[in-house]
Amino acid sequence: MGLIVLSNREPYAPTRNDNGELQWTPSIGGLTAALDPALQHAGGTWIAWGEQHPDVTDVDLPTEQPRYRLKRIRLSDAEVRDYYYGFSNRALWPISHYFIERTQYHASAWRAYVNVNRRFADAAIAAYQDGDLIWVHDYQLALVPRMIRDALPNARIGFFWHIPWPSVEVFRTLPWDLDILDGILGADLIGMHTPDYVAHFQNTCRRALRADTSGDLVHWKGRAARIVDRPIGIEVDAYEHLATSPEVEDTADRIRRTLQTQILLGVDRLDYTKGIPERLEAFDLFLDRHPETRGRVTLLQIAVPSRERVDSYRQLRNQVEGLVGRINGKHTQGGWSPIQYIYRGVPRDELVAHYRAADAMLVTPLRDGLNLVAKEFAACARDGALILSRFAGAADEMPEAIQVNPYSPENLSDAMRTALQMPLDEKKARLTRLREHLRDSDLHAWTDTFLHELKLQDHGGA
Ligand code: UDP
Repeated sequence: MGLIVLSNREPYAPTRNDNGELQWTPSIGGLTAALDPALQHAGGTWIAWGEQHPDVTDVDLPTEQPRYRLKRIRLSDAEVRDYYYGFSNRALWPISHYFIERTQYHASAWRAYVNVNRRFADAAIAAYQDGDLIWVHDYQLALVPRMIRDALPNARIGFFWHIPWPSVEVFRTLPWDLDILDGILGADLIGMHTPDYVAHFQNTCRRALRADTSGDLVHWKGRAARIVDRPIGIEVDAYEHLATSPEVEDTADRIRRTLQTQILLGVDRLDYTKGIPERLEAFDLFLDRHPETRGRVTLLQIAVPSRERVDSYRQLRNQVEGLVGRINGKHTQGGWSPIQYIYRGVPRDELVAHYRAADAMLVTPLRDGLNLVAKEFAACARDGALILSRFAGAADEMPEAIQVNPYSPENLSDAMRTALQMPLDEKKARLTRLREHLRDSDLHAWTDTFLHELKLQDHGGA
């Protein structure tokens, strides 16, 4: 029995070396870390958009264990524009994060989304062998479960929605709400990160689709789909190991020596859901309210470039850089500037060194499906405090964090003060409890549990 995984992003990306040969480099991100070992173990096929070198469509990955096949879907420029930037990132992404005013409902983008979902589904149908498990990932591929189901009524299909599921009132503003729901309900087992998202999804099925629900089941088209909250974990061992390596400790010490202050750290893709301007404004307020901290605290913000082809992301970059300039202009004195702003992604070891160097981590999204940075910080921190938005999915699992409302500058400013003044033994005690939970629900447990449940799912009976 093999495994078929479908995701927008591919697990390994090709680069050409000096001899012109293709080399496959693992992609950074939780999904590759979660599913690559499972596919290497079970064998099978991963289907994804072949972004670089699109002429290579089908390849056996040179992995150590049994190889698996990567089927690369080639998208035209118009498909990338409409399926990926258009419908996925200008419609489904903002609406699921409650940004209705940023949502664009273009029928042409929807049509491209349907067509590209069809191509992913066809690739899965062609690769399928009796008994395979199929696992479809995320909002870019919501129609795929139904498309596969229509062709393979007996296949076991799982689906994971990695972003928030909003209230039905918001979701129903999408003109294709019913198509998306019907698409997802082609799966036997549907996973989301929190009980709230599951409750919203069930309510959306009842109200918009008029489907019946009972317990964790949604009854639709003569079948029952089970919907569960299964928040993704991180590779705790790997992070802890890296965090205590001599190289990372040296880099962390260097960061602290360079800044010579307490450090508040922010690490986010530059996305309007992450609450970066609100965080900067709150830090400005903090400095106004606590002038004695001037010269003694630095906000180090790593902003990873993201979706730069979408207007609102370019506008956000201008807004953030304007704020950094204004706040630094206002408070800079005697060689100290309050905000250090890094506009690029950093490799994992450097990121972990920043987690080690920080006195407090600011994870303050306005809305976030889960937020892995919060979990990574908790696994790696030396003795820092975690400030976490109540609107991040991870907040449910992390009661030991200082939880905040990112819309309130006063609340955020107070949390910064609490974090920076927290006694060492309390910070350590909170980190210990956070780590116990991370260990009990790490990334490999997430993969194994979901696949196990999918295998056992009694499908078909409505
Ligand atoms: N990350 C990284 N380099 C960076 C910043 C972030 O590799 O410079 C990684 C980080 O380790 C985390 C992921 O990017 O695993 C971000 O995931 P998260 O769930 O926090 O947010 P997303 O970007 O998926 O919305």
